[in-house]
Amino acid sequence: MNTYTRFNISFKKGEGCWLWDTRGKKYLDAVAGIATCSLGHSDRILRKKLVAQLKKLQHISNLYKIEEQEELSKYLTKQSCAESVFFCNSGAEANESAIKLIKKFGNKIYTGKETFILAAESSFHGRTLATLSATGQPKYQKGFEPMVKGFKFFKYNDIASVKKLFDECQKNDQKVSGVLIEPIQGEGGVIPGDKLFFKDLRKLCTQNNSLLILDEVQSGVGRTGKMWGYETLGIEPDGFTLAKGLGGGHAIGALLVKEKANIFSPGDHASTFGGNPFACRAALTVLEEITRRKILNNVISRGNQLNEGFIKLSDKFPNIINGIRGIGLIQGLVINNSYTDPKTITLKAFDKGLLLVPAGGNVVRFVPPLIISRNEIKILLKKLNLIFEEL
Ligand SMILES: *Cc1c(COP(=O)(O)O)cnc(C)c1O
Repeated sequence: MNTYTRFNISFKKGEGCWLWDTRGKKYLDAVAGIATCSLGHSDRILRKKLVAQLKKLQHISNLYKIEEQEELSKYLTKQSCAESVFFCNSGAEANESAIKLIKKFGNKIYTGKETFILAAESSFHGRTLATLSATGQPKYQKGFEPMVKGFKFFKYNDIASVKKLFDECQKNDQKVSGVLIEPIQGEGGVIPGDKLFFKDLRKLCTQNNSLLILDEVQSGVGRTGKMWGYETLGIEPDGFTLAKGLGGGHAIGALLVKEKANIFSPGDHASTFGGNPFACRAALTVLEEITRRKILNNVISRGNQLNEGFIKLSDKFPNIINGIRGIGLIQGLVINNSYTDPKTITLKAFDKGLLLVPAGGNVVRFVPPLIISRNEIKILLKKLNLIFEEL
């Protein structure tokens, strides 16, 4: 269907941070399937593990115990604040699961009361009806009304605007069952969460007995230089969702919760493909390799290197670059839209053999594979310099 405005380009081969198009032209990939190919393209170990898994067992059903799924759950819960995991196949599904969980939580403890879920303006939570209803960007919702009821929106990083919604509910004898929020807004324009805001938000949720669930679909699995985005904010959520980077390019999503939010009973929620042996092997391999190759250290060093390069570029091109945002390997250049725009820069980057993806209305986003090398960051910065010189 006519759902995408696609670039007239297709790729036939990938290796590490590089892609080759059908004419044989080589590109440095700062998109990584939109923050998804954590280990880069065609990683040798991931390939080996997945081929072995395919030879053994690909799909079974959640009617049975799945060893790979249990192993992955153990790995995830050992490395995070969560205690239980539900597996699905995408970010939207993970957030859909979170929304159902928050609703159940609210309906259980606030029986008979009208409950609301709070979400942020300029957020992005997915394209299913409920996740779209939680997405604070009217442009995505347009044409699909009526939205699912029960969401209210606050300004990201603005605690007064959250308090206002809690007070509003209190006054009308309504309850806030939970808050769904990204630790760093991705699609909305690479906007990092403010530490103090999240500390206050954590407090508000605890005081009001509302769940705090983080959408870590883009920020999770090492992207920020920490394993989980919430670690950069110094708080622990009651639960969080994962997808994009978790499978290293393979479809898997997850909702992870602490004991307090572990409230689904058999029959409440399910997924046919969710957590099948193949997808779990992909995720397990990504997690094992992040540890074995000390990839988080690389994300921090390469993130700093990228940031230093951006500072130099913004000094050299103050008419183009309005700001630098992000952390680790999720960074953005804020573009002065009265001079040029992210789409123009992305198109120019194709010529120079560099893949970029816009975010928000005025940001060029950088979410390369987590394994990107020092030399590849150097090449990336050189290409950017060339692009800006020719604008
Ligand atoms: C991409 C994204 C989603 C949606 O994930 P899909 O796998 O496309 O359904 C949800 N939340 C955030 C923060 C995302 O970046």
